[in-house]
Amino acid sequence: MLLPVAKDIYLVEAPNKARFPYCHGLYIDDEINVLIDSSLGEENLASLKKKKVDILVNSHFHEDHILHNNYFTDAKIWAHALDAPAIRSMDVFLDFYGFTTYNALGLGQGFIDSIDLKASAVHHELQDGEIIDCGQIRLQVIHTPGHSPGHCCFWLEEQGILFSSDIDLSRFGPWYGHPCSNLGDYARSIKKCRDLQPGLVVSSHKGVISDDLNRRFDEYLAVIYRKEDAVLAALQKNPFNLEELTSRQIFYGPASKIDPFMLFFEKMAIKLHLEKLLAENRVREKEGLYYVS
Ligand SMILES: [Zn+2]
Repeated sequence: MLLPVAKDIYLVEAPNKARFPYCHGLYIDDEINVLIDSSLGEENLASLKKKKVDILVNSHFHEDHILHNNYFTDAKIWAHALDAPAIRSMDVFLDFYGFTTYNALGLGQGFIDSIDLKASAVHHELQDGEIIDCGQIRLQVIHTPGHSPGHCCFWLEEQGILFSSDIDLSRFGPWYGHPCSNLGDYARSIKKCRDLQPGLVVSSHKGVISDDLNRRFDEYLAVIYRKEDAVLAALQKNPFNLEELTSRQIFYGPASKIDPFMLFFEKMAIKLHLEKLLAENRVREKEGLYYVS
């Protein structure tokens, strides 16, 4: 369903509240028709194809944003230069997720097969600050790394609207379950979004949000530090190795039912926390065990 957000700007509302593998999109109906992200559900795909899409922008390389890129055969596909390689090649995709490095290629292939994900072309590589000129409407590319290296938000300054993609202001908080995430970058990117002072945020999994945005960005960021504190609290009681810490489900939450893919993402997320804490000398490692310094 296309829901108007402002003149000629629509939220493409995905099915199932945009839960995995769906995401909400943004559609600009202008001289040049621009769509952000493609995993929007069958009905939306069919109606957007009828309306015509000239440029399909991928906010980042994740499967739930690029899944139906190949459906838009007449569109040019644009994505940030740092994420484009993982859209063009499933081998690079597996590498970005850590499946290659951590000897889990079978698991990674299963992940790709479970949603029938295919690589697609990327015709143009975006850079920070670039303006996507649709005719009347202009979108500025805001490079917001951390969730992925080339994650981008899109700023419609005139309308005060920020498409924040997976800085999605969900209660779960930031997702960083692969080695190409970066916690320091993530924090800076969330602050960058907040400091734009948007009047309206459209996020990939929560849709349109307009109230209390400063507080929402701050609370979203705080989730990273809460999980970091939980890692430290666990190590305060006992030194643990990575596997033992992973089993505590600090990232997804101890009450979550997690599948083998999520268990892998959990391990990668905990590893990122440990690497940050090691770099800050707040944790030390000896023979695979982590201790609070
Ligand atoms: Zn994502």
